[in-house]
Amino acid sequence: CGIVGVIGNHSAAPIILDALRRLEYRGYDSAGVATVHDGVLDRRRAVGKLVNLADELNTNPIQGNVGIGHTRWATHGVPNVPNAHPHIAGKVAVVHNGIIENFKPLREELIAAGKTFDSDTDTEAVAKLCEHYMDAGLPADQAAIKTIGRLEGAFALCFLFQGDEEMLVAARMGPPIAIGYGEGEMFVGSDALALASNTNRICYLVDGDYAIVRRDGAEIFLADGTPANREIRTVNLES
Ligand code: GLU
Repeated sequence: CGIVGVIGNHSAAPIILDALRRLEYRGYDSAGVATVHDGVLDRRRAVGKLVNLADELNTNPIQGNVGIGHTRWATHGVPNVPNAHPHIAGKVAVVHNGIIENFKPLREELIAAGKTFDSDTDTEAVAKLCEHYMDAGLPADQAAIKTIGRLEGAFALCFLFQGDEEMLVAARMGPPIAIGYGEGEMFVGSDALALASNTNRICYLVDGDYAIVRRDGAEIFLADGTPANREIRTVNLES
């Protein structure tokens, strides 16, 4: 339901939590955050209000300046911790808004390839498919792009990678994705409001676009891989 990503210069978890709070008005049933710290993916998730995730983060702090977060409105799988996002598979973590219509055939294909599933969500198939392509030797960005190309349905996605943590991959087919431009930091959000404390320089992806986001900016492409020229706008939002 709500997506946040940050490649920052400070601890990512509080920034992500603040951004998720700005998205609370959309409604949600659980929430989570993943970061990479000292080269390792880590994650905290909680059912219910963001205060529960905040409590979990107080009890078990999570470090790292790069991370992703999510507020979930369950469509596939009940609201519980295993179904909460981010979904992690090997060296990739994924947050997703929307519905992956072809998750069942993808899941069957991945099970046949030896993967196991820890949740009832459609989203986990995205993480496992990306892991599968990384297992096969594709670099993280290529694995994510190939994964996005296999998906049917409505999705806003953000990928975070262990071993390639100065990069986020975002994609849009339906639900919005905004890229936020900071000074030596970059952001991803499901809307500009989520990023209002951090930046007002925003670029919205168009349906079919994917973005490779790095600390110094973002490259945006059409689904077929040709570069897309998307305008960065300065939006006026109260922070
Ligand atoms: N379909 C996904 C799930 O149920 C994402 C739902 C959402 O948009 O929050 O986990």
